[in-house]
Amino acid sequence: MLKIDNITVRYGQLTAVRGVSIDVAEGESVCIVGPNGAGKTTTLLTLSGVLSPAEGKVQYQGGDITGVNPEKIARMGISHVPEGRHVFALLTVEENLKIGTAMRQDRSGVEADIDLVLEYFPRLKERIKQPAGKLSGGEQQMLVIGRALLTRPKLITVDEPSLGLAPKIVDHVYDILDRLRKEEGMTLLIVEQSTKRALENADRLYVLRSGSVQLEGRTADLSAEDVERAYFGFD
Ligand code: ATP
Repeated sequence: MLKIDNITVRYGQLTAVRGVSIDVAEGESVCIVGPNGAGKTTTLLTLSGVLSPAEGKVQYQGGDITGVNPEKIARMGISHVPEGRHVFALLTVEENLKIGTAMRQDRSGVEADIDLVLEYFPRLKERIKQPAGKLSGGEQQMLVIGRALLTRPKLITVDEPSLGLAPKIVDHVYDILDRLRKEEGMTLLIVEQSTKRALENADRLYVLRSGSVQLEGRTADLSAEDVERAYFGFD
């Protein structure tokens, strides 16, 4: 479904990502795991069109999307949930969700999809008229994922869903992502700092460090020790 093919991405003189290749098949859950500054966010921003690679290509459903603008990529069915839970604090939960539908024309489809999101996230339903700034961190994470779902993505990319959340809340967020995959047929590409979460939740993972892929494989075939070695760079 998605093929990131040997991309190199630079910020001026700094090479943040160097020859990275990542494949994601339809229906898969794939995790990119790595320490701070490894190039994980840069990789996601490149496939969602925010950054252009200096070298390499991004292919999606057989077509070349390298350098295509973010709006067009979103319309093709890739929805990106950025790090940091950007909600509009003064707008209500409902208004925040409706922003996710701005590019859709099908009003009745939108209503049905909002109902579906509220079924997945009952906490949001309880707080639908409250300003998003009043939600807890976990609820805001649910809101940004819910908002992303309203573009009806085929592939959803989530940047560090567990950042700053209590373990129980993180379990809940991952349970929902798993249900979306199984029940709605979504494909997941998730960035994580936690090797444990990556091993528990993904079908396959890529360890990124210093801008390069150090290890890749099926989580079922990898030990925590293998992943940690690659993550920390122990020989
Ligand atoms: P984190 O977990 O901290 O978000 P990451 O693996 O997502 O880390 P990136 O954010 O992709 O890493 O950063 C990769 C490298 O690129 C780092 O050295 C970072 O300092 C640098 N970098 C990131 N964004 C920019 C930018 N806008 N301008 C210049 N350098 C940047």
